Amino acid sequence: MTFEELGLLPELLRAVSDAGYTEPTPIQAQAIPVVIAGKDVMGGAQTGTGKTAGFVLPLLQRLARHASTSPSPARHPVRALILTPTRELAMQVHESVQTYGKYVPLRDLVVYGGVDIKPQTEALRKGVEIVVATPGRLLDHVQQKSVNFNSVEVLVLDEADRMLDMGFIPDIKRILAMLPKERQSLLFSATFSEEIKKLADSMLKQPVLIEVARRNAVTETVTHRMHPVAQDHKRQLLAHILKTSSLKQVLVFVGTKFGASRLAVYLEKQGIEATAIHGDKSQQQRSEALEAFKSGKARVLVATDVAARGLDIDDLPHVINYELPHVPEDYIHRIGRTGRAGKEGDATSLVCPEERGKLAEIEKLIKRPIEQVLVQGFEPGPDVDAAHDKPRRGRGSNSAGRPERGDGSRDKSAAPRREPRGRRDEERERERPPSRRVEPAKPKLPKLDFDPSKPYEPKVSAQNTAPEPKRTHHRPKRAVPALLGGMPKADSDKG
Ligand code: AMP
Repeated sequence: MTFEELGLLPELLRAVSDAGYTEPTPIQAQAIPVVIAGKDVMGGAQTGTGKTAGFVLPLLQRLARHASTSPSPARHPVRALILTPTRELAMQVHESVQTYGKYVPLRDLVVYGGVDIKPQTEALRKGVEIVVATPGRLLDHVQQKSVNFNSVEVLVLDEADRMLDMGFIPDIKRILAMLPKERQSLLFSATFSEEIKKLADSMLKQPVLIEVARRNAVTETVTHRMHPVAQDHKRQLLAHILKTSSLKQVLVFVGTKFGASRLAVYLEKQGIEATAIHGDKSQQQRSEALEAFKSGKARVLVATDVAARGLDIDDLPHVINYELPHVPEDYIHRIGRTGRAGKEGDATSLVCPEERGKLAEIEKLIKRPIEQVLVQGFEPGPDVDAAHDKPRRGRGSNSAGRPERGDGSRDKSAAPRREPRGRRDEERERERPPSRRVEPAKPKLPKLDFDPSKPYEPKVSAQNTAPEPKRTHHRPKRAVPALLGGMPKADSDKG
């Protein structure tokens, strides 16, 4: 299949060729003809499949038919609306609109919050055919009456599942209610929950279902592995991995905004160039962080799930889950940035005993076991495992059965801490208000005893290739000198 065979206009074929694409990806091959034909689409595709070009190219083709070169704003009404959950994704989709639409006389604009609204208002007043927007800021423009939806012909909802997660559905419904009934609608989502299906029912007319990767499937070129480690040793293990390996462009995922910043600062103190990206950062800070990472100035980008969603970073080979995601689907989203287009990638998770349940859910979802690889010197001792596995007790007692001090602090003789309280993982900090928090006394952590000169080398080597581990939490552990090893590539995710 070629782009020519998909029936694209010469202007679009030229842009595609400029971008260096030689053949359409599966989602493009399926979606382009359907969208050109004016049909509604329900698309099941993750970032990395080429889905953006899959809807932007045919959308441009439809709008190009009646493109106007007149300078009059009235001749440039909003004809296509593309909604995305995050600013980053909006920027990336807008970039694609510009890349593929460079030979077509259509005006485009990206609209998102966190930046001055005035330039957006002015651009809207001058007239734009294609608006890529995040829902909140778009509604601000509606309120200001700087945008009018009467001429919208095509609506695209990108990453609808994330819109749902982020609580945007009421905003989306308000926007939908303002659009002409006669229009084409496309909805893309990596997963199809009942809620997504309900939303699809309310906005799509006899949609064509296009699914490229199986739902909840992960790329097969990604090697998954996990290193068991005590929560309080994660930072040191991460620093060890980064210091002793040649890994470049490492995307590290953490659970919270606060945790992201703190971890990036810690890594910097360890001499590792790192930057953080999360929802509390200004748009400019986020763009700068992303740029530093893309250009190689920062070797490590520490991100939260929300901020990293949809980041288009080409050839990102390494993802490290410093914390496992709260929802197993996010594991798939996280690693969607690696192993793209048949390239090799790896997803390494640092898993403390408390996260074993989450790990099991992820393995169930991706339908493959994640190889457990011990890093010498970082193995959580059996007492750590046992203590963390026990459910927390109520006030006045703790998992080790020692009396808890009335102020909620821990008995120092029982649990020497390696770090000041404020630097521990934020999530655990948030479990109870500080004054009332009662935590189980922690078991004595084994002293870290690793050889910092031994390299972290995460490539699969014949010697270190373990037999495929059983899908159980208590599979035999494999100790590897200062790390490594990957699992043999799992069978394809069929069935
Ligand atoms: P997306 O899934 O839309 O985020 O696209 C993922 C990446 O694939 C982007 O970096 C695109 O530039 C790239 N891409 C899209 N279509 C093609 C294609 N047909 N051939 C090669 N790369 C592509």
